[in-house]
Amino acid sequence: MPEVIALIFDFDDTLLPDSTTMLLESRGIDTDRFWKIDAKSLLDEGYDPTIAYLNLILENIGPDKPLGNLTNKDLSAFGATLDDKFFPGVFELANDLRALVRETSRDISVEFYIISGGLQEVILGSKFVRETFDGVYGCLFGEDESGVLKRIKRTITFTEKTRYLFEINKGITQADTLQNQYLVNKHVPEETRRVAFRNMIYVGDGLTDIPCFSLVQKNRGTAFGIFKPTVKSSAKRAFLEFVKTDRVASTHSPKFAADEDLGALLRAAVATNASQIYLARKQAELR
Ligand SMILES: [Mg+2]
Repeated sequence: MPEVIALIFDFDDTLLPDSTTMLLESRGIDTDRFWKIDAKSLLDEGYDPTIAYLNLILENIGPDKPLGNLTNKDLSAFGATLDDKFFPGVFELANDLRALVRETSRDISVEFYIISGGLQEVILGSKFVRETFDGVYGCLFGEDESGVLKRIKRTITFTEKTRYLFEINKGITQADTLQNQYLVNKHVPEETRRVAFRNMIYVGDGLTDIPCFSLVQKNRGTAFGIFKPTVKSSAKRAFLEFVKTDRVASTHSPKFAADEDLGALLRAAVATNASQIYLARKQAELR
């Protein structure tokens, strides 16, 4: 069985600017008001942040509402417009990493995943995402008889993100989970798990990524933080919550090209991981 190295990314503000904000803007919604007043007032009432924004989206759906009769198909069509919004170097990254791993051994594969608190249908609307990623986990809406979004089907909040790391770790597919939502709790012996945590590299920017950073780093994988150097609050949060607390290996602006610091580190991390797997195998053969 080939050993798998998994690169797992948050989506919004990690691979491109916030897609939900872009969706709302495209429909003429005042996003400052949406996030800073409407969502904030639900948070003040004790709502979970993800459930707050999903409820607000549902409240804006209807014949005379800003989002109209929004369907999953509409979300996907909006996602298709995002392909030119990705941060620099994202497109080359996957091919470069696959080539690097191939140089080390044909018996090691590299896979790409997105775990996001954003909208899964929007994310999967992107052709680049569909062609590049092996799995995408995001929030889902259920539809009424005519296809209009009606209910919250799945939310992915911060600790919930780790659930999907465990699904990847245990080799549980999304189709398996659709059949049985509790499958992730199944006991799978450490040595037989499909993707070891030490072979995971996690990249994210937000407070919702902290449980994933910790889980991956504690199990000898690698986590990188993303921040916007131009936004003071982003730098402060990255410093206090990511760097000072040792939750990530390091923190960078979202530039993924081979000659940028994050892009170079990701390539180095994957190359090192692949050589470690190769060496461990050779040593095991000699025993
Ligand atoms: Mg994010």
